[in-house]
Amino acid sequence: MFKALVVEKDAEGKTAAAVQDLHEDRLPDAEVTVAVEYSTLNYKDGLCIGPGGGLVRAYPHVPGIDFAGTVQDSRDDRYKPGDRVVLTGWRVGEAHWGGYSQKARVKGDWLVPLPEGLSTRQAMAVGTAGLTAMLSVMALEDHWLEPGHGPVLVTGAAGGVGSVATAILAHLGYQVAAVTGRPETEDYLRDLGATEIVPREELTEVTRKPLESERWAGCVDAVAGAMLGRVLKQMKYGSSVAAVGLAGGAAIEGALITPFILRGVNLLGIDSVMRPYADRVRAWDRIASDLPMDKLEAMVQPARLSDLPGLGADILKGQVKGRVVVDVN
Ligand code: NDP
Repeated sequence: MFKALVVEKDAEGKTAAAVQDLHEDRLPDAEVTVAVEYSTLNYKDGLCIGPGGGLVRAYPHVPGIDFAGTVQDSRDDRYKPGDRVVLTGWRVGEAHWGGYSQKARVKGDWLVPLPEGLSTRQAMAVGTAGLTAMLSVMALEDHWLEPGHGPVLVTGAAGGVGSVATAILAHLGYQVAAVTGRPETEDYLRDLGATEIVPREELTEVTRKPLESERWAGCVDAVAGAMLGRVLKQMKYGSSVAAVGLAGGAAIEGALITPFILRGVNLLGIDSVMRPYADRVRAWDRIASDLPMDKLEAMVQPARLSDLPGLGADILKGQVKGRVVVDVN
């Protein structure tokens, strides 16, 4: 028997999440069984713990889009008992049973060996949010961003993706401007390495101007909506925005074609879920080398499986700071 957070749906379509004892025969059929040590909390997890957001395929459901742990059994030659592994994405925790469980069973293709120098707890302090932040930084670098080009903007900075992006960029020598709607997170963001705090309201008014003064040498955007519309108009000539999330809306409000055709601005789409294996390994290696572990620890809020229903509701309201690390045992 093992413990897992199980979401059930009643006849009226209302969902409820609670920790349950399950037998191993409830696990799905797949090649690798993992004794999970840690999981984490992302915006998508908030949806899957709660109303489902159209992501969950079937109930009862075990959410948790990320986990790290030790292989217990394997029918895949690449993994053997005792190997330490990390999983993010592949719709685990949405369409498939996830990591809010002491046991998980998944395809070998979905796993990545834990990089040297990272513990399973640190891997989950990173999680999908941190992996996506690293993929964003790599995309900006691939599009010619270098320290010295000017300030790099991070939106949704006190959230999961934003916190890790701020810490990585600052560690790499970039000047980081952090956008937040929570003024009380200023000290936290400055400790992560931000040198400028931009109040959210400065960037949420939709304007009709085709362009504004050039301010940002790069941007990691977790918010979209009106903010991305404004930010695009403020990007420096030839710079890029890594578009990661939609915490502020799914449209790009007030945007015109002008930043792209008059300033050569690039909008780079970042997806972590279906990212090929080689890119994941490259990103995890960069995380192990370029994310200072003391800064990562400063972002961590520890939690247990039983805390997740409350935390899931909080993240949907934009009230979680940094990275939640769930000790499933
Ligand atoms: P969090 O909830 O931890 O962070 C989002 C942050 O955005 C909040 O903390 C808040 O930051 C800001 N925010 C929230 N609501 C608004 C709003 N209405 N207007 C402006 N800012 C707002 O989520 P994550 O960091 O885990 O994820 C961020 C986004 O990235 C989500 O949309 C998520 O779905 C997406 N994502 C995409 C991935 C991909 O593969 N492309 C992978 C992971 C996440 P503050 O309080 O500082 O203002």
